[in-house]
Amino acid sequence: MFDFLASMLKVAKIPYTENAALAPKSTFKVGGKARLYITPQNPEELESTIAAVHSAEIPFFLTGGASNVVYPDGIYEGAIISTQSVKEIFYDPDEITPDGAVLVSCQCGTPMAAFVDFCTRKNLTGAEQFAGLPGTVGGAVYMNARCFDRSVSDILYSTKHIEFEGDKARQVEVPFNSEDWDYKKSPFQAPVASVKSQLYITQATFRLSPASPADHDRIAADCKKYIAERVDKGHFKYPSAGSVFKNNHAFGAPSGKLIDDCGLKGLTIGGAQIAPFHGNFIINTGNATAADIKALVQVAQKAVHDKFGFNLEPEIIFV
Ligand SMILES: Cc1cc2nc3c(=O)[nH]c(=O)nc-3n(C[C@H](O)[C@H](O)[C@H](O)COP(=O)(O)OP(=O)(O)OC[C@H]3O[C@@H](n4cnc5c(N)ncnc54)[C@H](O)[C@@H]3O)c2cc1C
Repeated sequence: MFDFLASMLKVAKIPYTENAALAPKSTFKVGGKARLYITPQNPEELESTIAAVHSAEIPFFLTGGASNVVYPDGIYEGAIISTQSVKEIFYDPDEITPDGAVLVSCQCGTPMAAFVDFCTRKNLTGAEQFAGLPGTVGGAVYMNARCFDRSVSDILYSTKHIEFEGDKARQVEVPFNSEDWDYKKSPFQAPVASVKSQLYITQATFRLSPASPADHDRIAADCKKYIAERVDKGHFKYPSAGSVFKNNHAFGAPSGKLIDDCGLKGLTIGGAQIAPFHGNFIINTGNATAADIKALVQVAQKAVHDKFGFNLEPEIIFV
């Protein structure tokens, strides 16, 4: 089946690598190898790739920046499809919504950093909090990423995705509907029984506010401030996938505080450690495996449940 898929990709001229090492491709620097690692170059190639993998009946995982995932140890007997080359940005300054917003559309693999830089260059305000967020637009939309009290859904205007009807794929544009979104929840996360009901984001359109030329320095300074805060908190000191567990605001204490109160900061299993500087970060101290990270997740969940009766919900995704 892998040979069949590889030959389909070759004919379609869609780039792929066989037996690709996964650790260097994720921010956690963890994982073995994937039988195929495919990098479609545009939304049409992304659609044909998903259709081809589907018809070859090969398990697959779609990834953007791989900044929220833990790749498996050993061999992943499937295909990793990376969107990172699908990264055009579209903007028409004359297209203004009735309430005065301007729209910036990003293909799914656009790095969030490139989107934020684009807004800064064009003097558009509203996305500053996302400066320094690793990963792509597709991943941020899927996760409904939240930074400094701002969620991606707060600035979303519409999304485009690929969906399957029978064996036919089509691209659909959906206007933002606030009822489908919540803290770290997006409609793209619905549990899926088969590829036919799963949705693959190809593009997101964001609403921004045009700022006056005098505001340019303020926008740039805010972006710098948010990045500096992440650096100060140690976000980039070690490989990680950011916060491991979602926060439950109703519970009243952030997950990192609960883990800290259980005395778990610094706890090490193999090459993975609960960061001594941040209870909700697990870091790779050099040779962590997915199994080490999973074990730490389970220890934290049990300790917090035993002490507080609260179930920590993982935010990171084990592929
Ligand atoms: C140092 C550090 C700091 C972080 N800080 C934050 C933070 O402040 N706030 C926060 O919310 N997160 C944070 N994260 C986590 C992570 O950066 C975000 O969740 C990010 O939005 C994930 O984007 P990605 O492209 O890397 O997605 P991936 O990790 O590649 O994928 C995440 C999920 O999205 C799905 N996905 C990706 N692209 C698509 C697509 N096109 N269509 C459908 N599904 C798709 C994947 O299948 C997977 O289920 C941090 C991570 C790190 C390493």
